[in-house]
Amino acid sequence: MNYYSLNKKSPKVNFQEAVVNGLAPDRGLYFPESITPLDNDFIQNIGEYSNEEIAYQAIKQFVGDEIPTETLQQIIKETLSFDFPVVEIEKNVGTLELFHGPTMAFKDVGARFMARCLGYFNRNNDNKVTVLVATSGDTGGAVADGFLGVKGVEVVILYPSGKVSNIQEKQLTTLGQNITALEVDGVFDDCQDMVKTAFLDTEINRVLTSANSINIARWLPQMFYFFFAYKQVYKQNKEVVFSVPSGNFGNICAGIMAQKLGLPIKHFIAATNVNDTVPNYLKEGVYNPKPSKATISNAMDVGNPSNFIRIQELFNNDLASLKNAFSSYSFTDEETRKAMKVIYKNSNYVADPHGAVGYLGAKEYLKNNSDTLCLFLETAHPVKFLDVVEDTLDTQVTIPEKIEAILHKKKSAIKTSSYDGLKEFLNS
Ligand SMILES: *Cc1c(COP(=O)(O)O)cnc(C)c1O
Repeated sequence: MNYYSLNKKSPKVNFQEAVVNGLAPDRGLYFPESITPLDNDFIQNIGEYSNEEIAYQAIKQFVGDEIPTETLQQIIKETLSFDFPVVEIEKNVGTLELFHGPTMAFKDVGARFMARCLGYFNRNNDNKVTVLVATSGDTGGAVADGFLGVKGVEVVILYPSGKVSNIQEKQLTTLGQNITALEVDGVFDDCQDMVKTAFLDTEINRVLTSANSINIARWLPQMFYFFFAYKQVYKQNKEVVFSVPSGNFGNICAGIMAQKLGLPIKHFIAATNVNDTVPNYLKEGVYNPKPSKATISNAMDVGNPSNFIRIQELFNNDLASLKNAFSSYSFTDEETRKAMKVIYKNSNYVADPHGAVGYLGAKEYLKNNSDTLCLFLETAHPVKFLDVVEDTLDTQVTIPEKIEAILHKKKSAIKTSSYDGLKEFLNS
C-alpha cells in the first residue's frame, strides 16, 4: 500500500516509510492511496470471528506485503491482549470500554501496534529509530509501555514538570531500559515546540519519528475498536451510532475508516469540551483554529485538531456530505460534571470526564434519533483522572493493581529547561 501526503508536495511512500517518517517531508499527514471495503459476508457474520481475525482483516490492506502474514498476526495478537467490552448504561446508550490495556488509556492499542511494527522493520538492527514524543499526560505512558524493550527503538518522552498527575508521571518515569523521560521546566506547549524543533534540526544525528496519532501505525489500529463494538451489538438489529470524545480527532477518523471498510455505522458524533473548533466549523462553515483552553477532560484540550484534515479527505472535502454522516457538539466542564453525576446516580457507573463528554454527545443525538443504539467510547479509566472523579462523585475510586504497582517505583527523569538540553541528550 502506498501513502500520499495531504500537502501533496512529497513523493508517495510505502507503509514502512510512512511509519518511520511519521510526517511527510512537506509536513503533511500521510493518507492511504486506496480503501477497499471488506467482504460483506465477513461483516454480516462478524460474530463468528475472534478479535484477532477481525483486526487482521481490517488492517492487512494497509500494511500490504511489507510485513509477512504470520508476523502481522503475531503483532496483532500481542497488541490486543486485553478486553474491549460494551457495557449498557441506559436504554439505547452503551459504552465501549477502551481502558483495559496496560496503562488504562485507549492509546495503548495504537502504541503497542506501532512499537511492534518498528521492531519488525529493525529486525536486522540496521534501522534504528528514536521515537520522540511530547505528552500532556496519557500519551507518554501508553507510548512508554508499548515500546518498552522493543529492539532498535529508543524512546524519549518530554513532559511538563508538575503538570501531569502523579500516576501519569510514574507511568513515564519508572520503566527504564530504552525509555528516557525528560522533565521540562515549562508547559506542554514548550515540550511540543522542542519536539518540533528537533524534527527540523539537521544537526541531530539520529533518525527521529513521532508516536502521536499523525503516525499511521498509531492511527489505523484504532479502527479495530469500532469492529469490536459492532460485533457485540449487531444482533440487537438496531442502527448503530458512535459518540467519540475527541481532541486530535484520530480516534473518530479511524472510526470513519472502519465505516469505509463496510462497517454499517449510521452516524458519528464528535463530542468535544469547550475546545470547539470542529463544532463551530460544522455550524458556520469556517475552520478557525484557536489556542487550546484547559478543561477537566484535558486529553482533549486541542485547539487545532491534527487529524481533521484526514476526515475532510475521507469526505472529499465536501462539507455537505460530511454533515450528513457526522455531527459535533461541544460541552462545558459544568455539563461534564453533571453528566458524571447522572451516570453514577442512574446507572451506578463511574465515568471519567472524557467518557462523560462522549455520553453527552450520545444524549444530544438521541433527542432527535431516539430509535438508534448510541455507543460512546470510554477512553480512560476513571483512576487516570482521580481528583476530578472523586471530587465530582464524592466517592473513592479503587486503584487497580497494575496502577498500584507502579506507585511504589522510583522516578527517574532528566531535567531540562531548553531545546539545547534535548539536543545535547539526543546527540550524546
Ligand atoms: C487522546 C485522548 C482522547 C482524544 O483522542 P483523539 O484521537 O485525539 O481525538 C480522548 N480521551 C482520552 C482519555 C485521551 O487520552
